[in-house]
Amino acid sequence: MGNIKGKKIIENTLNRLSSRRNAPTAGFVILLVLYVIASAIVIISARTDFDILFFGMSIPGKSFTGVFSAISQVCIIFMTLYFGKKGYFTALVLQLSQLPPLCVSIFVQKNVMSLPGVFSAILTILAITIIYLNGKQMTAYQKELRDQAVTDQLTGLPNRFACSRLVKALVEKGEKFAMVSIDINEFKGINDALGFDTGNHVLCEIASRWKAIADDGSSGTLDFITRIGGDEFVLFIRDYQSDEEIVNTIRQYEKVIFDRITVDNCDLYISASFGYAEFPKDADTRDAIFSDANAAMHEVKRTKSSNHILRFSPELMRTERTLDLERKIREALENGTFYFNLQPQFDMHHRLRGFEALARMKDTDGTAISPGEFIPVAEKVGLVDKVDGIVLRKSTAFFGELLNRTGADITLSVNISVRHLMKNDFLDEIREALTSSGVPANNLEIEITESIMIDSVDKALKCIDELKAMGIKIAIDDFGTGYSSLSYLNRFPADLLKVDKSFIDEMNTSESSRQYVSAIISMGHIMGFDVISEGVEEEEQIDTLREIGCDFIQGFVWGRPLMPDAAEKLVVESSVKS
Ligand code: C2E
Ligand code: MG
Ligand code: MG
Repeated sequence: MGNIKGKKIIENTLNRLSSRRNAPTAGFVILLVLYVIASAIVIISARTDFDILFFGMSIPGKSFTGVFSAISQVCIIFMTLYFGKKGYFTALVLQLSQLPPLCVSIFVQKNVMSLPGVFSAILTILAITIIYLNGKQMTAYQKELRDQAVTDQLTGLPNRFACSRLVKALVEKGEKFAMVSIDINEFKGINDALGFDTGNHVLCEIASRWKAIADDGSSGTLDFITRIGGDEFVLFIRDYQSDEEIVNTIRQYEKVIFDRITVDNCDLYISASFGYAEFPKDADTRDAIFSDANAAMHEVKRTKSSNHILRFSPELMRTERTLDLERKIREALENGTFYFNLQPQFDMHHRLRGFEALARMKDTDGTAISPGEFIPVAEKVGLVDKVDGIVLRKSTAFFGELLNRTGADITLSVNISVRHLMKNDFLDEIREALTSSGVPANNLEIEITESIMIDSVDKALKCIDELKAMGIKIAIDDFGTGYSSLSYLNRFPADLLKVDKSFIDEMNTSESSRQYVSAIISMGHIMGFDVISEGVEEEEQIDTLREIGCDFIQGFVWGRPLMPDAAEKLVVESSVKS
């Protein structure tokens, strides 16, 4: 029962794509009633002699016969025009039923006045037959066009257009369904090796096997299969109770193509990748369900998983985004499009201490991609040392010239990831950057994130000792987010602690955060470090930081990250002030 109803939705959806629709039944009833009334008036007015007074004029009743006869004819024509077969046959019966009384009147009662009535009925029958046959032809033609528009010419399955309309209908209806994105594995290989004709045969065979399951309902769920192009198919599954049922159904579709397909005496064994998403659980819009099912399918392909079926999960999108970012990072490295910004750092009297160099990259459409997003990906895929390296080289080169031009004595802070720090040639890279840029070692600071440091402390310490020996300053970035022990900090030859923004954000709303920041500052001072607060956005935060003895400020309140020329302007203005 559910099956029949379900199929009806699909039929209706496809029918709705056709412009021709039958008019509502109420219209048919109105025309019929109007016809009966008009015909009754014709008969009465023809048989009786009466006059109607109209504004003092006496009009004979018989003169209305023609008018009402015309009205009844119009009803008959409209019926045929708008109600297809039903309208035509009703109109035909009504017209034919007029003939016997007219014939009796002419031949038995010898009343020749009835002759025009016979002609009129015959001509009307002729007219409505022409209208009906013509309309039928048009409908058939329209149906053919509709079928062409929604049918894939090669396999005869509903096509991409039908697929997207069905998704729209189901989403609007709010009914739960699973959308399965299917891609035939190694199909390109079949096309390349055996030719397009064989490829087409294979697609037709797959389509017919799948259509057989969808049509006979043997999967136990209500299915609908479409081909959206090339070797890509989309299966809709409805009327299921559990996730297992969805997977069971997909398995049946998988099984029928595992069975040998023979084309031109060649035995082929086909497999496919199935990725699915459920509406509304995984995705609640049309576009989302398409892209989620697709993402799941691509993940099956990418991992070449032996289980060819995968449900969408949000982590997948992350993987997709990661892959996308990795590609963009590689491109930006190749094309040299990474650049840097300089965010100023100030002492508590608003005197410039220096700048932090921050990596920047743009998306293909020119929008900025946040380093918060691309740096973790670069770390994961082992490209972060290259990104760090570019920022190091470009920013020191600029900074060397800046120091030369302005004679300022300020610090350039460069973020270095621990992976980069661990590389054998890291120190050479730093030396090279210093030599070629002319930046004095004590004007360079290396920022290392606290949380990452802890994992590899011994190895890192050795490297940091060497940096220190060269005269380079060391900052511990994002301090407070890791779990540094006091003993570890004590061993750490840092110059600067950078208090993480998250504590500064809370500082003026929570007393414990304020005390925490105050404790970090005191502890830093005891160990001989300067302390800088990151992400300071409000004047009140500066006041508090002054009270609790912070040494430096970095934040939007006094300066956002700047392009190099704007940073240079700031240096010039600062040296004029001091
Ligand atoms: P970070 O080193 O802690 O850098 C500070 C981040 O805080 C920067 O974000 C900066 O723009 C932002 N910031 C500073 N003041 C404010 C403020 O008042 N309000 C707010 N909302 N944000 C503020 P950005 O540039 O997005 O960098 C994010 C992170 O990316 C950096 O955090 C750093 O860990 C990493 N990063 C940036 N450039 C490099 C690089 O060249 N190499 C490596 N390894 N990591 C980098
Ligand atoms: Mg930093
Ligand atoms: Mg930081």
